[in-house]
Amino acid sequence: MDECLASTLDTAVLERLEYLDRLVSKSDEPSRASLAKTEITRLADAWRALLKLHAPNEHGRCSECSGWLRPRRHPCTVWSTAYQHLIAADGSPAAGAGRHAAAAGRPAVEMLGAS
Ligand SMILES: [Zn+2]
Repeated sequence: MDECLASTLDTAVLERLEYLDRLVSKSDEPSRASLAKTEITRLADAWRALLKLHAPNEHGRCSECSGWLRPRRHPCTVWSTAYQHLIAADGSPAAGAGRHAAAAGRPAVEMLGAS
């Protein structure tokens, strides 16, 4: 993907997210209900597709995040981010999992197993 196409793609995705934020914060209740009906399914489908790309391989590693010299164990940052935003009570990145959580003394894998 060339740089121009990547930039266009980034802008389009970020603008779509801003549009959804505006709709949620500024539209009336029936409009929000209609929005939820379509967008929740789309966002769930997007998460599923992304998580499928980052599923662990036969070695328990994320093939997408692993480099040739640096394999990345599952859960990678994509799965950790999904957990933080979809499962964790406050959804804040500060309560995260993954290698940064481990460095901060928080149990990364234990969080994913608890529920
Ligand atoms: Zn990954």
